[in-house]
Amino acid sequence: MRTLPIDELRGQVRGDVISSEDERYEDARTVYNAMIDRRPAVIVRAANAGDVMAGVNFAREAGLDLAVRGGGHSVPGFGTCDDGVVIDLSGMRGVRVDPASSTARAEGGATWGDFNAATHAFGLATTGGIISTTGVAGLTLGGGIGYLARGFGLSIDNLVSADVVTADGQLVQASEREHDDLFWALRGGGGNFGVATALEFQLHPVKDIYGGPMFYELSEAENVLRFYREYIADAPEQMGAFPAFQIAPPLPFIPEDRHGDTFIAIVACWAGPVEEGPKAFEPFHDVAPVVAEFVGPAPYPALNGAFDGLLPPGLHHYWKASFVSELTDDAIAAHVTHGPDVPTVHSTMHLYPIDGAVHRVGASDTAFAYRDANFATVIVGAWPDPAQGDANIAWVRRYYDAVAPHSEEGGYVNFMAGDDQGRVRANYRGNYDRLVTVKRAYDPGNLFHLNQNIVP
Ligand SMILES: Cc1cc2nc3c(=O)[nH]c(=O)nc-3n(C[C@H](O)[C@H](O)[C@H](O)COP(=O)(O)OP(=O)(O)OC[C@H]3O[C@@H](n4cnc5c(N)ncnc54)[C@H](O)[C@@H]3O)c2cc1C
Repeated sequence: MRTLPIDELRGQVRGDVISSEDERYEDARTVYNAMIDRRPAVIVRAANAGDVMAGVNFAREAGLDLAVRGGGHSVPGFGTCDDGVVIDLSGMRGVRVDPASSTARAEGGATWGDFNAATHAFGLATTGGIISTTGVAGLTLGGGIGYLARGFGLSIDNLVSADVVTADGQLVQASEREHDDLFWALRGGGGNFGVATALEFQLHPVKDIYGGPMFYELSEAENVLRFYREYIADAPEQMGAFPAFQIAPPLPFIPEDRHGDTFIAIVACWAGPVEEGPKAFEPFHDVAPVVAEFVGPAPYPALNGAFDGLLPPGLHHYWKASFVSELTDDAIAAHVTHGPDVPTVHSTMHLYPIDGAVHRVGASDTAFAYRDANFATVIVGAWPDPAQGDANIAWVRRYYDAVAPHSEEGGYVNFMAGDDQGRVRANYRGNYDRLVTVKRAYDPGNLFHLNQNIVP
C-alpha cells in the first residue's frame, strides 16, 4: 500500500485531517445510513473554503476517490467512500441572514435545522426539506422539495448564488451573472460540479405556520388518495400537503390502543395567515373521520423538526423514487395494495406535490427537468435491525415496481437508490446533454463521481 502525504495535507488544513489511526476515525467515518460501512483513507473536516481546496487538490493529485459530505443524509452513501478522501463540511454550518435583501447565506455543511433557526428569527424562510437534520447543500443541489415548494418553488428556484470549489481546486462564485453555465447545472445537477462551500438563498415572509399530521383508517386509503388528487390540484399555493402510509408511533396524540397500527396520513403545512389555518384544514377533516391528529399553529422550524424522531441517524435505509404527472386510478390502486404493507414505523411512502411555483420555472431554465410533473413519490425503507433488511428492501422494490408503470421514467435524484445510476439520463430528460457539456468544462476527469453521476 502506498504512503499518502497526509502530514503535508495536515499542514495546509485549518480544520481536522482524520486518518484510520486517529481515535476519532470510527465516529468520523459514520454516516446516516447504517447500511453504508466504508473506510476512507482520510477525512478532511474542513473549517473553511481553503481547507476544501486543499482536500480537492489532495484527492486529485493522489488519484483517489473523492466523496463530499454535507448533512450526511445520502441514502446511497455518496458522502463517503472506501480508501479515498472525504471532505466533510459538518464543521461549516454558519448561516448569515441579510434582512434588508431577505436573503440568507449558508455554509456548505449547514442543515435545514441550522438554516431555519437562523431565518426564523427574522420571520423568513425558504423551501427546504421536511427533516431538520438533512443538509442544505445536498438537498438543494438535487432540487429541493419541501412544504413550501408549491408557494415558492424548489430550493434551487430560491438559490441566488453559490461559492463552489471546482475540480481544479479553484473557488468560483456561480450566479446568473458569473459562471452562469455552472449555476444552471448546480440547480438540479447534484454534487457533480464541485463542492459548494456557501449557498445564498432568497427568503420569504414565513414565520409561524398551521400544520401537522392527520391519521385516517386504512379502509379510507383509496378515498383519501382520490380526495387528495382533486384537492391539491386547486389548493391555494400556501398549502403544502402530502399523503403517507405510516405505522402509528407511540406518541401521546395517538390513542394508545392504536400504537403500531398502520394508517393513511396527510401531513400538511399552511403557510398563509395562521388564523386562516383551521379553515384551510377543513377539507382534510371532511374527507374521512380523523383517528388522530397533531395539528395547530407552530413555528415553521418546529414542523421542520417534527418527524426527526422517526428518522434518527443509524437506521438502515433503502429508497426508490419516481416522478408522477397524473395520479391515475390505477396508480392509486397500486398505492392501496402496497402502502398498507409498510414494514416498520420508520418506513413510509410520501407523495410530494411539485406543482404551483415549481411549474412556473421552465424545464430548461435549470437542470431540474421535470417541471411538468405534479408529484414526486418516494418509497422509504428504513429499519433498525439488519435482520429486517430483506423484508424492507423487498417491500420497497415491490411497491416501486407496482407504481412505476403509472409514473414517469425519471425520479428525483435525491430520493434515488445507488442502483439507479442507469436512470440518470432519464432524470434530466432534454437537459442531460447540456449537463455533460458543463461537466466537461468544470470536471473533465470526473473527480466528483460519487453521486448520481453525469459522465463527462
Ligand atoms: C431523513 C431524510 C429526509 C429527507 N427529506 C428530504 C426532503 O424533504 N426533501 C428533499 O428534497 N430531499 C430530502 N431528502 C433527500 C436529500 O435531499 C438527499 O439525501 C441529500 O443528498 C442529502 O444531502 P446531505 O447534504 O444531507 O447528504 P450528504 O450525504 O452529505 O451529501 C449527499 C451528496 O450531496 C452532495 N453534497 C452534499 N453537500 C455538498 C456540498 N456542500 N457541495 C457539493 N455537493 C454536496 C454530494 O454529492 C454528496 O455526496 C431526505 C433524506 C433523508 C435521509
